[in-house]
Amino acid sequence: MLTVELRSLENEEVVVQEQGLAQVLGLDLAPELSSEPLEVFCQVSKVEELFVAKGWVKGKMLLTCDRCLEAFESGYKSFFEMHYRLQGDEVKQDDESEELPDGAVETVFFEGDILDIADQVRQTVLLSVPMRAICREDCRGLCGSCGCNLNVESCQCSGQSTDPRWSALKNWKPQ
Ligand SMILES: [Zn+2]
Ligand SMILES: [Zn+2]
Repeated sequence: MLTVELRSLENEEVVVQEQGLAQVLGLDLAPELSSEPLEVFCQVSKVEELFVAKGWVKGKMLLTCDRCLEAFESGYKSFFEMHYRLQGDEVKQDDESEELPDGAVETVFFEGDILDIADQVRQTVLLSVPMRAICREDCRGLCGSCGCNLNVESCQCSGQSTDPRWSALKNWKPQ
């Protein structure tokens, strides 16, 4: 499990290492993100009143290529760092700085004797989904005319542009 007992952090850091966590993380609701093995590695240490969790999550996700619309599997390894504080552990004054400066680490407040990092690991996985997915650098995509997948077949349209601007150019001759 992705939890650490606070008292085990009093004298030393704790390493959390887990595999196959899709269900624990609630990622089984998003099958495209939950293909196993999903691996988490995290070091948790206590720095004065702050609990620092640093690590990575590694896995594979099933994406759809934006160019050819085929599904493909993509590996990722995402690093994270999170800070935790006990609820009620007052932070001195600067509540106004709501916006985190670039590179700053978010602080999460929690209660109890156990620190659970599952939420933040889940978020790291969700943030690993790329805005734009391309199955491979040289994906040729779909033919704009007939829609065939140009990675696997070629069609009659290829090479001939039906864009009227080009046919106009064809008849253009320098004076
Ligand atoms: Zn593609
Ligand atoms: Zn075509």
